[in-house]
Amino acid sequence: MTSNDPQRSTRHDLDPHLQRYAARAVGMTASEVRALFAVASRPEVVSLAGGMPNLAALPLDSLSAEVAQIIATEGLTALQYGSAHGVPKLREQICDVMALEGVTGHPDDIVITVGSQMALDLVTRIFCDPGDVVLAEGPSYVGALGTFASYEADVVHVAMDEHGLVPDALRAALAAVERAGKRAKFLYTIPNFQNPAGVTMAVDRRAEIVEICARHRVLVVEDNPYGLLGFDGQIYPALRSMDADNVVYLGSFSKTFASGLRVGWALAPHAVREKLVLAAESAALCAPTLNQMVVSRYLATHDWKSQIKSFQEMYRERRDAMLGALEQHMPPGCTWTRPDGGFFVWLTVPEGIDTKAMQPRAVTERVAYVPGTGFYADGFGSRQMRLSFCYPTPERIREGVRRLAAVLSEELQL
Ligand code: PMP
Repeated sequence: MTSNDPQRSTRHDLDPHLQRYAARAVGMTASEVRALFAVASRPEVVSLAGGMPNLAALPLDSLSAEVAQIIATEGLTALQYGSAHGVPKLREQICDVMALEGVTGHPDDIVITVGSQMALDLVTRIFCDPGDVVLAEGPSYVGALGTFASYEADVVHVAMDEHGLVPDALRAALAAVERAGKRAKFLYTIPNFQNPAGVTMAVDRRAEIVEICARHRVLVVEDNPYGLLGFDGQIYPALRSMDADNVVYLGSFSKTFASGLRVGWALAPHAVREKLVLAAESAALCAPTLNQMVVSRYLATHDWKSQIKSFQEMYRERRDAMLGALEQHMPPGCTWTRPDGGFFVWLTVPEGIDTKAMQPRAVTERVAYVPGTGFYADGFGSRQMRLSFCYPTPERIREGVRRLAAVLSEELQL
C-alpha cells in the first residue's frame, strides 16, 4: 500500500486527531520502503526492496557468552542510565575504527546515538529551522529525507554521476539557493556506496566538495554507514579527514556488526558536539548502556576486521549475482549502476514506464523493489528503482531479477 492509496487516505481523513497535529506531522506518511515491507516479506515474493543487513555470519554463541559475561561482571552499570555522551571506552574504540578512513578524532568529540538515524535527527534538530535549505544528493537516503521533512527543512537535490556528487552541480545549487535569498544549512552526503544509488564519490572530488562547502559556509554532514563494506577491501578517505572544523561525520555499527543493537555515533566539531549531547539528552537521555557495552566488548574481544571481511565477501557474491542477472535479462534501454560496495543498485528504465505504477504488477509476479520517487523530495525518480542485493541468496537474486525483467519486457510491449 502506498501513501496515495485511496483506502489509506480515507483512513487519514477519518483520523479524529487530524486538526491537532503540528504542521511537521501532517506531511509524515509511511515511506515507500516501509509500506512495501508487508508484501515483500511474503515467502513467494523475492524482495529486492528492503535494505536489511544479512547477519547470518555473526558468531552468535560467542556473542551470547559475552552478553552473559557483561551482565555477570558489570551488570549494575550495564543496566543503568548512562551519560548522553556515550560509554567512554566505546568512544575511544570508535576513534580506532574511524582511523581506518584517515579520521583523527578525539573521543570527547563523539556522541553515541541510537543508530546513526538518531544522529541525523539530532543534527537536523540543532541546525534547521522551518524553511531552511538542506542540500542532498539526488537521489538520497529515504530516512534522511523523512527527518528533514519532519523539521520542515526544504531539500534541494544535487546531481550525482557514476563518480558521486558533481562539484559543478553543487556550485550551481549553492548559487541558486543564495540567489533565492535562502540559507543552505548543510550538505548531506553519503560518499561511499551511496544509498540508494550505489555510487562512490571519487577521491579527487572529495577535497573539492569540502572546499566548496567551507567557502560557502555550509556545513558538511557525512553519513557513512557503508564505508567499510568495499568489496575489494578498499577504504576511501573520509571527508572529515579533510576538514575537521566543518564536517560532522555520522557512523554506525548497523552494517558492520548488528543493526538491532542500534548503536551509531556522530563525530562533530567541539561546539557542535556540545549541542548534540544536549539534544541527545532531551531526545533519549542516553543510548542503551548494555548495547554500547556489547559493541565495546565485541570490538575488544573479536576479530571484527575479519568479520567485516566476511561480510564484504558475502555481499560481493550477491552483487555479482545481481549484476550478472541484470546483464543477462534486462530489456534494451535499461541502465544501472555498478556498485563496488554496500547494498544497492540503482536501475533506470526506458521512458514510458513509471516504476511506481508498475509495482503492483511486479508484486503479482512475485518480485519487489522500491520505486525511485521515494528517494527524492521533489517527485523525481519515476523512471528509477532501487534494487538491494544484501539480503536474499544469490539464487533468489537471480530469480528476482529474471522476474523483474519479464515484467519490464511486457510493459515495454504494451
Ligand atoms: N544512513 C544511511 C545512508 C542508511 O542507509 C541507514 C540505514 N539504512 C542509516 C543512515 C541509518 O542506520 P542506523 O540508524 O541503523 O545506524
